[in-house]
Amino acid sequence: MSLLNVQNLEVVYNDVVLVLKGLSLNVAKGSITTLLGANGAGKSTTLKAISGLLEGEDGKATSGTILYKGQPMSSKSPEKTVRQGIFQVMEGRRIFEDLTVEENLRCGAYTQPAKNFSGNLEKVYTYFPRLRERKAQLAGYMSGGEQQMLAIGRAVMASPELLLLDEPSLGLAPLLVEEIFDIVKKINKEEGVTVLLVEQNARMALSLADYGYIMENGRIVMDGKGSELLHNPDVQEFYLGLS
Ligand code: ATP
Repeated sequence: MSLLNVQNLEVVYNDVVLVLKGLSLNVAKGSITTLLGANGAGKSTTLKAISGLLEGEDGKATSGTILYKGQPMSSKSPEKTVRQGIFQVMEGRRIFEDLTVEENLRCGAYTQPAKNFSGNLEKVYTYFPRLRERKAQLAGYMSGGEQQMLAIGRAVMASPELLLLDEPSLGLAPLLVEEIFDIVKKINKEEGVTVLLVEQNARMALSLADYGYIMENGRIVMDGKGSELLHNPDVQEFYLGLS
């Protein structure tokens, strides 16, 4: 069953620059779906169009449809999309540096009934024991990897149905990337959270994903099961650095 369906989406920035040029993709409920492509292809823009974060950046969807659970997305406000169950973890983490780890997690829960708080917090601390150890520390003093864990933990606090992850591996050492991807897989399997993952690290993303899309210059140019794309000679040559 489709959780999210995007059809022929066009997005323009500042009324002039056409960045998405008729993008279509489908995210099956319960899946990990990945969106890959070179710098500037429009991956982050796609996520922002879904989560309602475009407007704040002078971006506008000028045509196309975004269906969530079969219904047109009713609002372009990020707060309302969070209430509908969609949570985006932005590129570059964007945690609150002057708040403690636990205060940051508390912020993720602002749309949730108070009764869910301690259960969700325990879940996050089980997925990320490091966050439990550092719960009273100011988030700004955490390492890059720990901040990424915090950003994902904060999303889990919102009990999302659809988690949009924008380059969680950015700037992290390979071992840490594996750790983060393992946890994304667990959140998907154990919590049933559907994931749309934008990545530069195509090999890791395709190993993890049920389905993948490759975009170039504002459009999807190839799609298929993660395992199929991983073994496709064109993908290997252009995106995995093999030939
Ligand atoms: P990267 O992998 O480098 O993050 P991306 O595939 O996520 O790239 P986007 O960030 O969606 O690509 O950017 C797509 C294009 O839109 C780029 O040419 C970028 O310069 C432009 N763009 C992005 N945000 C804005 C904005 N707020 N105003 C104007 N142009 C923008």
